[in-house]
Amino acid sequence: MKDLSARVLNMAQMRGASYADVRVVNRTIQTLGVRDGRVQEMLQQESQGFGVRVIADGAWGFASCSRDDYADVDATLQRALQNARASALTKTRDVQLGPPEANKGVFRSAYKMDPFMVSMSDKINLLLKADSEMRRMKTSKAHLLTRGELIFVREEKTFASSEGAYIQQEIVESGCEIQAQATDEAGEVQTRTYPWGRHQQTRGFEFVLEQQLVENAPRLAQEALMLLTADACPALDATTVILSGNQVALQVHESCGHPIELDRVLKQEASFAGTSFLTLEKLNNFQYGSEIVNLTADATIPGGLGTFGFDDEGVPAQRVEVVRDGRFVGYMTNRELATALKLGRSNGTMRAESWNRLPLIRMTNINLLPGAWTLENLIADTDDGIYFDTNRSWSIDDKRLNFQFGTELAWEIKGGKKTRLLKNPIYTGVTPNFWRGCDAIGDASEWVVWGTPRCGKGQPAQTIRTGHGASPARFRNVKVFSKS
Ligand SMILES: [Zn+2]
Repeated sequence: MKDLSARVLNMAQMRGASYADVRVVNRTIQTLGVRDGRVQEMLQQESQGFGVRVIADGAWGFASCSRDDYADVDATLQRALQNARASALTKTRDVQLGPPEANKGVFRSAYKMDPFMVSMSDKINLLLKADSEMRRMKTSKAHLLTRGELIFVREEKTFASSEGAYIQQEIVESGCEIQAQATDEAGEVQTRTYPWGRHQQTRGFEFVLEQQLVENAPRLAQEALMLLTADACPALDATTVILSGNQVALQVHESCGHPIELDRVLKQEASFAGTSFLTLEKLNNFQYGSEIVNLTADATIPGGLGTFGFDDEGVPAQRVEVVRDGRFVGYMTNRELATALKLGRSNGTMRAESWNRLPLIRMTNINLLPGAWTLENLIADTDDGIYFDTNRSWSIDDKRLNFQFGTELAWEIKGGKKTRLLKNPIYTGVTPNFWRGCDAIGDASEWVVWGTPRCGKGQPAQTIRTGHGASPARFRNVKVFSKS
């Protein structure tokens, strides 16, 4: 690895690059799936290669290659330089990276059980058992489809730069999901997933065991069946809403995580509902939420899917305040934009999906810091409201202002108690108004670092894994209705 990176960096400088970095990545992904009591998938894929970024004539160039003999290295570097020189023809200013980042280090994500050492049969048996526990709940009145999935990832990457950085990282991820889908004779379909879509962390197989898939399976199937005959969520212009922790995670992801990506703010990135309402004049000067709302971008928390030692520019992982006491105080930055806007050192959020993609500003772990309530107390303290649980659908505009989210189920709350199961619930709002209406946040005992493994951004598209520490939270004056 050292040979390859030294060769790229030396040649880049000899051929006129003012900066170069090389990222060598070896990624293994194992996926296992069952469906309706049968094994659906057992797959292990490996991907190896390297990507080279250069600055030449004041502009970026990038190229990548899946092989690493010397002829390929030379040709790949040549393509990166050609791309940079072509980009330079339309540049508006020279790229400046600020002070050098000559970091050296090794990072390994912590795990107790290496998921690649657990046998395939143990993993499949776990899924089959959860699947059969779901199917046990089947009734004569409804059809039940069940499925389960496990995923394990090991990524080894080496980063070296012409500034002297040399960093080795190994990140292991484990993820799981089970789902029950009930259909009645009239064709109505209701779905429940657990823990929520696919939950994933940078941990080992112990993470999967802790989720207790088998123990939760019967409840999940029962809830899917109960939803078929549940009342629809009522239409109310302004009610009190409590969101489950996993729905708060999704709310944070869409209405805080994406709009604080500085490349979106500067309109350099507009794919997948890009740009942002959090424009530059709002930094330190905008009430994003109520005074109890505190949000961080934190790549240092244990287990988060956005946790690492160094980003893909070799900048150390950091904890950054995004919203403090309700005020908007921070973006996610990279070296180039932090320098251009005089925001100090990059806060280390550049991430690439793999060796063949350029790093972009991506969410790390965007967290809503815990408040003072247990979920039980939060419900007991609510006279009239609706509890929304587990995301089903989301929609948000380009600037990340107007949104509409649906969950798999909801519970009516009357007099401090859950009274009635509600189906097809949807709530809608405008980001700052919604967060300003937040009057209670769950405490540390309710706080989970949820994993969102399918965040899309960029062209060509990159799917990155992000994390969100969140607990349940209450919001006042929210419009709700049900999907027709
Ligand atoms: Zn996303």
